[in-house]
Amino acid sequence: MIIGALQRFTLSDFPEKPAAIIFFQGCNFRCPFCHNGSLLPMRPESPPVPVADIMNFLEKKRGRLGGVVLSGGEPTLQNNLEKFIERIKSMNYAVKLDTNGSRPEIIAKLIQNNLLDYIAMDIKAPPGKYATLCGTEIDYSAIRHSIKIISAGNVPHHFRTTFVPSLLSRDDLKNIRSSLPANTLYTVQQFRKENALVSGL
Ligand code: SF4
Repeated sequence: MIIGALQRFTLSDFPEKPAAIIFFQGCNFRCPFCHNGSLLPMRPESPPVPVADIMNFLEKKRGRLGGVVLSGGEPTLQNNLEKFIERIKSMNYAVKLDTNGSRPEIIAKLIQNNLLDYIAMDIKAPPGKYATLCGTEIDYSAIRHSIKIISAGNVPHHFRTTFVPSLLSRDDLKNIRSSLPANTLYTVQQFRKENALVSGL
């Protein structure tokens, strides 16, 4: 379990809940538009945030913060994620997972064990452009599988795409939308050039 950073307060990352955000260290993608470059290597450059500090903080904020967002990096790459979430939930926090969807078996297990209250999954691109938008070759069937698991489960969720005009077209967005179940929530967020992993996009 390696935590790169803690954001102590947000009103915009957990639907209808004031929340804290835990940024896990390490990601298996290299999306050119990523704004969290320092969180991508599995080993951080600066010392990680101790788990005990996170737990102490959450203990103090009990009753004032309603939720905890697990973000990153890619949270599902972390060892002992289940145990970590169990500790957070034992303090009566709702837990939201932000994920790139590359590890469907972990997502399925977390849902099955009632450890998640909300899921936001990135859909980087239509299948043919996935490698470009996530910066590495991946097994697209894992993405498809995660979409299926999340859509079929009873955890509130949404799918989202960062729209990078130089890499995606409006037709790409339509293709992504049509690959998702009709009644599912899908949002598109605008790409911001500042601090992107790849400059000049
Ligand atoms: S999935 Fe992409 S955007 Fe998210 S942390 Fe990893 S590299 Fe960054």
